[in-house]
Amino acid sequence: MVSRREGVLVAEQQRKDRNDLVGSRAVIVLGAILVAAVLLITSYEIWRQRTVALSSSATNLEALAVALAEQTERSIRNVETVIDAVLESIDEGGGIENANSADMHRELRERAVGVPQIAGIGLVDSTGLGVNTLVHWPTPPFNVADRDYFQFHRDHADKAAHIGALTSGRLSDREMITISKRISGRDGSFKGVVLATILPGFFHEFYARVLPPTHNSAVALFRIDGMLLARVPEAPGTKLGKSYAHLPDFQPGEPRSGLVRGPSPMDGAMRMVAFQTLERYPLKLNLSLDEGQLLASWRGNTLRLAAFGVTATILLTSMVFLLVRHMRGEEQSVRQLRDSENRLRLAQFTLDHAADMVFWATMDGRVIYANRAACERTNVTVEEASTVTVAELDPAFSPEMWQGHLATLRRDGTVRYEAVHRPRKGRPFPVDVVITTVMWEGQESLCAFVRDITDRKQAEAALAEQAISLEASNAELEQFAYVASHDLREPLRMVNSFVTMLSKRYGDKLDDEARDYIAFAQDGAVRMDRLILDLLEYSRVGRLDRPLVPTPLGQCIDLACRNLLLAIDESGAAIDRDTDFPMVMANEEELVRLLVNLIANALKYRAPDRAPRITIGAERRDDDILVTIADNGIGIAPEYFERIFRIFQRLHGRDRYEGTGIGLAICKKIVERHGGRIWVESVPDQGSCFYFTLKPAPTP
Ligand code: ADP
Repeated sequence: MVSRREGVLVAEQQRKDRNDLVGSRAVIVLGAILVAAVLLITSYEIWRQRTVALSSSATNLEALAVALAEQTERSIRNVETVIDAVLESIDEGGGIENANSADMHRELRERAVGVPQIAGIGLVDSTGLGVNTLVHWPTPPFNVADRDYFQFHRDHADKAAHIGALTSGRLSDREMITISKRISGRDGSFKGVVLATILPGFFHEFYARVLPPTHNSAVALFRIDGMLLARVPEAPGTKLGKSYAHLPDFQPGEPRSGLVRGPSPMDGAMRMVAFQTLERYPLKLNLSLDEGQLLASWRGNTLRLAAFGVTATILLTSMVFLLVRHMRGEEQSVRQLRDSENRLRLAQFTLDHAADMVFWATMDGRVIYANRAACERTNVTVEEASTVTVAELDPAFSPEMWQGHLATLRRDGTVRYEAVHRPRKGRPFPVDVVITTVMWEGQESLCAFVRDITDRKQAEAALAEQAISLEASNAELEQFAYVASHDLREPLRMVNSFVTMLSKRYGDKLDDEARDYIAFAQDGAVRMDRLILDLLEYSRVGRLDRPLVPTPLGQCIDLACRNLLLAIDESGAAIDRDTDFPMVMANEEELVRLLVNLIANALKYRAPDRAPRITIGAERRDDDILVTIADNGIGIAPEYFERIFRIFQRLHGRDRYEGTGIGLAICKKIVERHGGRIWVESVPDQGSCFYFTLKPAPTP
């Protein structure tokens, strides 16, 4: 048993082991947190840089869009101012009817000076017929009655400037943006139109100058209904004058200014677009940049950051892995060390508290260690035990004996013997000694286990004594039974013969009652003789002159059946028996007697209503042979299964079945002397089965 102190130590160490495990787990958790933190910070930084890049660009873009819209508006406003001045001149000159003059042409030229965006000015009457132009004099014939701006002014009394659809001029093939105003009579009637044109190139040039050279920036000027009037730079999908009215930007309810992101319908690039609707004019300006290019530098940074994150993660993971492996290795070796310390401590504890004596000694007989029991039994202290020699512990241990043991040890590797240990002090006692060799600190040493066998020796001696006296009393008893039964028969025979003589000689003179008495006496004498004979037989079982030898079981069964031939015939019994029976270790005479007794009983205790059927068999079991003799007789109640094997035990009166009650007792004695066992299984009124075992004869 482990002492309380040892138990506490072990528990303490197990707690430490758990703590160590907690240490390496903490490192893993810490490592995981660090890796997660690195990944989180890296991801956050990537996200932050992207957000910063996008939001600062968005702010710049929006500011620039506002500036460009204002500038665009100013340009158109200047043109409108020129138109207003021309309108005034027409009014002052007596209307459009008088405007086809060189003076008006000159005035137009003067008005246009300093307004470079104006590509042309045209005055048309209420039929759409050209009256005067900025570029040509005399005015060539042209008509604009089919143009949208003409029709607009004709149909609307609105005095505001109208931005027309991008159209090619009547006098030149160039595409132009038209800004026009209505000429109204004093009664408000439609008198014609003053129109000024701006080439898209003006805006192209202007926008190109202010456009940031990076990120594939673009500016587009749309009419509020979605018609594209100008775009810088040109893109393959760009077509001036084309309507983009289907885009969400031009749907009713859209804000006047703002920022959107999405794929460009012009060049397909993912764009960030700042849009701004002009204050005075139904125009919308889109300033956009390619998000892909905008984020290019961010992407470079992202790659660097990701590389940093991955490298840091790998480094951290490897460090944690190595650290944990190192710690686990250390923990394992510490645990192994503690385990082996524990085992050692327990081994030491077991050794100290063992009931047997244990000695370690050098090959020359010097004691290295003696356990507690050894110290106590040899009367030495623990300190002395490591300084004495074997010969000092037991003065009877001679150098010759020592050498003898060493020789056996070298030959067999171990020595076992019994001896009497004679300690320096105290009484000698018998011991059982086992010596083996063991390597101790590189030296071959001896380990001896010495057991005090005083009790065993005493028990053995007592047992031997008992066996001897038992044998003697058995022999005496057998002798007595034999002699008694043998000698008893003689006077009995005398009684019987004189009673018979009495009956023969004086039978006539006696009355019936006296004759009955004589008959009873004769019957008693006969039964007594039977009893004595059976007792004689019982006492003879196991006599030394009947040794057990290999005997054919089958032949013994034949012999038994032959002995009982008359009874078998009389009862009409059928005997079923195996054909093949093994050889058994038996005395033939006793085996036949055993079989005769059992078969005779099977015949005797037959059922009155059926002929007896007896089955005899034998089967080989693990280390014996089981013989069965089964009948279909009257059977035996289970409570008598044991009793019937005792001497003089009978279940029936003599009036029903003759017998002495010794038959099965003889069977039991025979079987047990043969080293076997006998028992019965039975069902009343159905039959009984007697089993007994015998030892098989050794195979030759
Ligand atoms: P005995 O036959 O002389 O009475 P045994 O010792 O042979 O004495 O048998 C003891 C008792 O066991 C018998 O009296 C009988 O009642 C019972 N017995 C023995 N063999 C059988 C059997 N085959 N069938 C039924 N009963 C039996």
